[in-house]
Amino acid sequence: MDARSADSTTLESKANTSSEMDIDIFAVQCEECYKWRQINTLEDYEYIRRKLRDDEFVCERIEGMTCKDAEELKYDSSKAWAIDKPGLLETPRGFERNVVMRTDYSGTDVYYITSIGKKLETHAEVAAFIEANPDYSNAPLGDFDFTAPLVMEDTVPSVDVETLEPSKEND
Ligand SMILES: [Zn+2]
Repeated sequence: MDARSADSTTLESKANTSSEMDIDIFAVQCEECYKWRQINTLEDYEYIRRKLRDDEFVCERIEGMTCKDAEELKYDSSKAWAIDKPGLLETPRGFERNVVMRTDYSGTDVYYITSIGKKLETHAEVAAFIEANPDYSNAPLGDFDFTAPLVMEDTVPSVDVETLEPSKEND
């Protein structure tokens, strides 16, 4: 399968030391030059992701960027990549959509965090939270999507577990 044509949107993961790895680098592929462009904020990323339903993403969408600019991110196994579902709606106000990579790279998990820090892992939990908190009653249930981004197997580091450990401390 050609990864390029799979989808225009990806998430990239960055290892940390917990049992799961937060995905906190976001990238979109230009439809013209095929370079990957990092999107700095989750908010901007979600906006672009939704627009991909109707509009192709090109470098010029980023202020000051053109297709001639060098690629900042490489689609390779220096980091594991996961492809998000294109056209996903933006996260309703008052919530944050988080994606974590499983440490064995077998998949990703999606959950929402409320503004008071409550973690919601299913539609039923979201529905119950909104019902109990009328302040959020204008958040459409259909905008919550637990579709987990697909891990791109060709970017999974082919390393043993040891190398995922934090490097040795320097004295
Ligand atoms: Zn481009």
